[in-house]
Amino acid sequence: MSTTTETHEFQTEAKQLLDLMVHSIYSNKDVFLRELISNASDALDKRRFQALTDPSLLDSGEELEISLSPNVEDRTLTVEDNGIGMTREEVKELIGTIAKSGTKEFLKKVQENKEKDLSPELIGQFGVGFYSSFIVADKVTLVTRKAGEEKAIQWESTGDGTYTLAETERDRAGTSVTLHLKPVDDEDGMGDYTQQWNLQSIVKRYSDFVAYPIKMEVTRQQPKPKEEGEETEGDDNSPPEMEEVQTVETLNSMKAIWVRPESEVSDEEYNEFYKHISHDWTEPLLRIAVKIEGALEYRALIFVPSKAPFDLFHRESIKGVHLYVKRVFIMDDCKELLPEYLRFLRGVVDSEDLSLNISREILQQDRQIQRMRKGIVSKILSTLEDLLKEDREKYLSFWNEFGSVMKEGLYGDFENKDRLLGLSLFQSTHHESELTTLDDYIERMKADQKEIYFMTGESRAAIENSPHLEGLIAEGYEVLLLTDNVDEFWVDRAQQYREMTFKSVGKGNVDVGGEKDEEKEKEYASLLECIKGQLDEHIKEVRLSTRLKTSAACLVSDEGDITPQLEELLRASNQEVPKTKRILELNPDHPIMGKMKTLFEEDSASQKLKDYAEILHGQSLIAEGGKPVDPSKFSKLISDLMVDSV
Ligand code: ADP
Repeated sequence: MSTTTETHEFQTEAKQLLDLMVHSIYSNKDVFLRELISNASDALDKRRFQALTDPSLLDSGEELEISLSPNVEDRTLTVEDNGIGMTREEVKELIGTIAKSGTKEFLKKVQENKEKDLSPELIGQFGVGFYSSFIVADKVTLVTRKAGEEKAIQWESTGDGTYTLAETERDRAGTSVTLHLKPVDDEDGMGDYTQQWNLQSIVKRYSDFVAYPIKMEVTRQQPKPKEEGEETEGDDNSPPEMEEVQTVETLNSMKAIWVRPESEVSDEEYNEFYKHISHDWTEPLLRIAVKIEGALEYRALIFVPSKAPFDLFHRESIKGVHLYVKRVFIMDDCKELLPEYLRFLRGVVDSEDLSLNISREILQQDRQIQRMRKGIVSKILSTLEDLLKEDREKYLSFWNEFGSVMKEGLYGDFENKDRLLGLSLFQSTHHESELTTLDDYIERMKADQKEIYFMTGESRAAIENSPHLEGLIAEGYEVLLLTDNVDEFWVDRAQQYREMTFKSVGKGNVDVGGEKDEEKEKEYASLLECIKGQLDEHIKEVRLSTRLKTSAACLVSDEGDITPQLEELLRASNQEVPKTKRILELNPDHPIMGKMKTLFEEDSASQKLKDYAEILHGQSLIAEGGKPVDPSKFSKLISDLMVDSV
């Protein structure tokens, strides 16, 4: 057989990541085995799933399995599976490159980490299972044959930035990964991964529940059978003569963890199971078990990770939970079982009622799936409700990671909107750093208050300093400060919570500073008309404000209009949005108003009046964190004013 060996370069990000792995001083090196076994188990899942529609991919006699083959003399360990395998192109794509969005940010974060210790938290968020081989090996050889193909491919690398590819043979579909192990170093946590007992105990600890047998040839001592004709002489109690025999042992119990009674499973076992299905390296924050019996029977075991992955907001990375039917794996990433705003959850759902050959297409309309989804979501929300009540600190760490995703449910899951609002935490003018629930906000509302006040904006500082809040704060009202992009989308649609209406402080009229002053309205009517004429291009109305206390002016949106922030977000997502004109509100009690009135009465067409109008408009934009329509002109107007005033 003629084989040519090609040498390839790893993609830059992959190279950097690999370099980190090679030099990692990650203390728990045993986890590499968990990662390789999880990859093998995923590959077996895929082969079984694809064979449902294409039976030629799996002979009925072939048992799906994982095997470990240590070799003491060569100091190698081979992890093998007869799963789906990879084609040459797939090997290049999946092993030689890292296509995950967020890779650059990840690497930057790691490089900033001075100790150069690749913390499990970082790896976990990223999920780079296969590369963890280089924590324990200085050379890795992977041989793989895709199910349904004849050719096999060999990939090999010493983790130095290049890898080789060569055609090879393999007698069945699947993948084997051979690690050329580094020397044992107890101080460094580098165990001996050629020792049977060591492998047995690592598998038991990290991979016991894996649904496929993890096999290994083990040496066992057993009494030597007596040879024929041998006499049993004298002392019958003497220990029998022993001999070493080789047998193949299955190292894991393969018990589905979600079927076992909760009291019998330790937290550690649950956590290892979580790491296996999620490829996360960190303990989960929360575990939610669901067991429903009756007309519809299913179990679910769902985990909330402690850290959000980098790509939480990249649509293409949405994962779901694993679906099983009567303990048989059907598919991973079953998106139909959870709404998008819960896409950060990991776990399994095992149904007693679905058909074993249910397809992805059918899932979408399946009534049972919909009922299961409803029940699971409800259980998740009630677990979170309990946590909010019972352990505020833990809930906070959950909310800080996933709150902005959960809020997508406020416009995506109408049925659970009120529960989700109850679970939401907000920044507020009540406290400078602590978050509040809506229930607590309502509790603190003033006797005459009928609306929940909020304002959206870039940052807390930008909102807090905006003139819109002045009147409310002065009168002792609390305002929620909403700074997540997602807030722009739900506040308009949520409308109410516990019969209280959400009211934007930056929109429409806010009557808190007292009644409108009829006298002043009349007094300024023609001046306002004149200013409106001058700013016509940008402004739809000029009116007196009841929300301002110290500032001269601010811009507000009309009740039904979208805010400038939302306008910007929509544009950023390539949607066409016409520019919405806003309303200029002026503070009738500000001295500038008297000055402008005098100017107006002297000469309603004076240049100075025009300039003042433009300055007021520019100031209002600056006050809310924006910039004047024509910054250089604005700056010139201010300088002229300064010269004038001295
Ligand atoms: P992850 O498992 O987190 O996706 P890995 O770096 O461990 O990341 O693996 C990258 C990809 O390579 C996997 O998603 C899978 O498609 C493929 N892969 C890894 N190991 C195997 C295997 N034993 N059999 C088939 N494909 C595999």
